[in-house]
Amino acid sequence: MRIYNTETKTLEEFKPITPGKVSMYVCGPTVYNLIHIGNARPMIVFDTVRRYFEYKGYEVNYVSNFTDVDDKIIKKANEEGVDASVISERYIKECKKDMADLNVRPATTHPQATKEIQGMIDMISTLINKGYAYVVDDGTVYFAVDKDPNYGELSHKNLDDLQSGFRSIAVSGEDQKRSPLDFVLWKPKKEGEPYWDSPWCQGRPGWHIECSVMSRKYLGETIDIHAGGEDLIFPHHENEIAQSECANGKPFVHYWMHNAFLNIDNHKMSKSLGNFKTVRDVDAVYDPQVLRFLMLSAHYRSPLNYSVDLMDAAKTSYERLVNCCRNLDYNLENAADKEISEEEKKLLEQAHQYRLQFEKVMDDDFNTADAISALFDLMRFINTNSGTENSKTYLASLRKEFTELSDVLGLIVDRKPEASDDETAYIEEKIKERQEARKARDFKKADAIRDELKAKGILLEDTKEGVKWTKA
Ligand code: AMP
Ligand code: ZN
Repeated sequence: MRIYNTETKTLEEFKPITPGKVSMYVCGPTVYNLIHIGNARPMIVFDTVRRYFEYKGYEVNYVSNFTDVDDKIIKKANEEGVDASVISERYIKECKKDMADLNVRPATTHPQATKEIQGMIDMISTLINKGYAYVVDDGTVYFAVDKDPNYGELSHKNLDDLQSGFRSIAVSGEDQKRSPLDFVLWKPKKEGEPYWDSPWCQGRPGWHIECSVMSRKYLGETIDIHAGGEDLIFPHHENEIAQSECANGKPFVHYWMHNAFLNIDNHKMSKSLGNFKTVRDVDAVYDPQVLRFLMLSAHYRSPLNYSVDLMDAAKTSYERLVNCCRNLDYNLENAADKEISEEEKKLLEQAHQYRLQFEKVMDDDFNTADAISALFDLMRFINTNSGTENSKTYLASLRKEFTELSDVLGLIVDRKPEASDDETAYIEEKIKERQEARKARDFKKADAIRDELKAKGILLEDTKEGVKWTKA
């Protein structure tokens, strides 16, 4: 398998630290609001990466944090007059619901910053003791960037260029900072903010330290993969490397993976432009699987556009997969129990080629766009080469090929059809008519209504609680 490593800017062969295992850390959202569809991109992309590793037989330890202490959370808590934890717990719950809708599996561990403060204090103390960090008069602790000779290695930035760029920016309250590039590890509390005791002052951690600490605690000092959106390369991930490598004296991460951004109608998503969309907004209009499909229809390192047209096209494509699965299941249910024929065996060999094609492109830096094409090739093959005249064994093997590949992409293809509002109203009206016919002992009419609905794929069941209907 080859993975594009942001740090070396090349495709590298994947070699795990421990054979058969993958340790993976994905920077998660700051929980002060419902997640937007941009946040959903790394979630879906790296969930798919995890699924593919598991498909290949790796055991994946997948850690993704929730940043639950931050200026935006505190601001919202003060506006609502509640504790910051009320806001963060609320939006962690909502985020988990969105993840479930998008079929993003829960991480092995979802650590939260506020529950890992002691670990952060310990790492900051180590950095101070080793001379990589310093404390100023008000108790703020800074990381001294110029003490780290490797600073800039991930973002390919040159320290001198960075220094001259920052020199003119004087931030108030930061006059004791030795260099404008130095970043905060710990800062003193302000009125109305949550705080913790520390050797330096009552206060709270800077943002970057949480990921260094959680990654080490749950995955070890050196891990296989660290991932997130490309906006995190600098300064967040650059600072994580500095903290972790200076504190641990070991390499931090073997492969750095970053997804490109999601835009809306070819513009950057922003509240002021009014083109900001939450996952919840999209779910109100589309099946969340359609959003997942759209996200995977581009390579994760290419920018991706969200628009109504693209979503409608994704919906049509996704529904073709669902229909294929539905027909296959119908054929499987109605096929004869007979021996698999020689011809069917040959066809299965042909079908297997699509799986090999799928694996080839996924092995090449998780090219989900081409993997979807391979899945569509398999779908077309199934549509032309399956029917009730086939053996159950043959059809079940096709179903297995199809499900295993769609599972890697996390696409739920065996969706039962849902009736539209109009359709539901029509069915309920018909059921009422049928009940009236039965009351009037007009069983011929009642049966005719049942048959009419059956022809439309609507099955009625008379239960103690009344008539129930399902759409086949
Ligand atoms: P945040 O809550 O801003 O820290 O973001 C959580 C994750 O979402 C990070 O990995 C970001 O890089 C990612 N992210 C934020 N906006 C977008 C976007 N428009 N497209 C893709 N990824 C994004
Ligand atoms: Zn992080």
